[in-house]
Amino acid sequence: MDHTSAEFNPWLNAAKRFETAADRLHLDDGMRKILKTPAKELTVAIPVMLDDGRIEVFTGYRVQHSIARGPAKGGIRYAPDVSLDEVRALASWMTWKCAVVNLPYGGGKGGVICDPSILSDIELERITRRYTSEILDIIGPEKDIPAPDMNTNDRTMAWIMDTYSMHKRETTTGVVTGKPLDLGGSRGRPEATGRGCLYVTREALKQFGIPQTKARVVVQGFGNVGGMGARLMAKEGFKVVAIIETDGAVYNENGLDIEALLQHRKATGSILDFDGAQNLSREEALFLECDVLLPAAKENVITSETAPKINPKIVCEGANGPTTALADKILADRGIFVIPDILANAGGVTVSYFEWVQDRQGYFWNEKLVNERLEEIMVNSFYDVLRYSKEHKVENRTAAYMLALDRVAFAIKLRGIYA
Ligand code: NAD
Repeated sequence: MDHTSAEFNPWLNAAKRFETAADRLHLDDGMRKILKTPAKELTVAIPVMLDDGRIEVFTGYRVQHSIARGPAKGGIRYAPDVSLDEVRALASWMTWKCAVVNLPYGGGKGGVICDPSILSDIELERITRRYTSEILDIIGPEKDIPAPDMNTNDRTMAWIMDTYSMHKRETTTGVVTGKPLDLGGSRGRPEATGRGCLYVTREALKQFGIPQTKARVVVQGFGNVGGMGARLMAKEGFKVVAIIETDGAVYNENGLDIEALLQHRKATGSILDFDGAQNLSREEALFLECDVLLPAAKENVITSETAPKINPKIVCEGANGPTTALADKILADRGIFVIPDILANAGGVTVSYFEWVQDRQGYFWNEKLVNERLEEIMVNSFYDVLRYSKEHKVENRTAAYMLALDRVAFAIKLRGIYA
């Protein structure tokens, strides 16, 4: 299949879901224009001296899609192929995601065109600090709060926080989330997205009357989201029967020992050839009959080509955009229950919100409290989406988008249009 085709374009996929939900809500043209247009877009030049003395100028973006419900919120990614269109699409997704789980945030996203694999740590730090100083006027705890995304992490957030604080002449931990624990990070943040997936999957299983201990789960991607998700689900008694990674898959019909598999991967660099499991090809594992499929690796996995072949009762979208808009209808026709990404993986931004609240209060919660509050938000949001789905007779993704658009449109109406 041609992976440059329109089916795989994130901006077109986001637009398709937006239009479907906006039609259902009978949103007028004016409101659609406001909701579709990013509120602010900044493109910056980032001149940096490389380690060999040469000067390179990198390009960076920060897009604030909406600030109707609160400050913009969203990650920053570093990659050679980042584009303004991609950042726009991701920023709009953040607006809808924050609205679905009812956080007092809008949506934003940032990106720097660079290849971190060929840059030294010092070069990455210089890029990060100069990028931060270039976007400094539009970020801040009350304006726009970045976080890690592809190829950025807690160390990157520490550099951003430090640069921002140096300019403001005061330590401002609340300017970014996803920070190290010792710099105002939150307990429970590394597990948050996987934990959120666990909570919504548990509720979805109840819809089918399947007990947790009988649930057969296939997980694609053994990284932050998939690894944590698999680990927490296994701990709760789910049978995680297969894990799919880039080089293949492992399968045990009675459930894999996830802790041992993590150790095995650490020791050997691969999940394959794990004692007590059988190696499978990635396709064989993806198409296994199971109760839950947790795609937690990348976008465009469930497509018009693969959607007819997968066999789960429930798809919990741990990754962003794992299902294409064309595949939506195939899944709906097959009666597969989809927990859409803007709900399923919102545990990450929810605990980011907790981090921001804790930073602003200067009072830090224990992990139990973080997890309890996360559970409450994820479970309530799951049933909010289900209610919309039943009331409007639409599938879950459209319901989640309708709920989100409705909330953002309502905020805009309450605020009125300033002129
Ligand atoms: P990660 O890099 O920690 O993990 C991704 C894993 O998927 C890696 O182990 C990688 O080897 C594997 N992978 C890549 N391509 C694969 C393929 N074709 N088949 C099987 N495995 C493959 O990344 P992550 O943070 O876990 O993010 C995964 C997805 O979840 C992304 O779409 C991300 O945007 C989304 N997400 C992450 C968070 C978060 O808090 N980390 C929050 C919301 C959404």
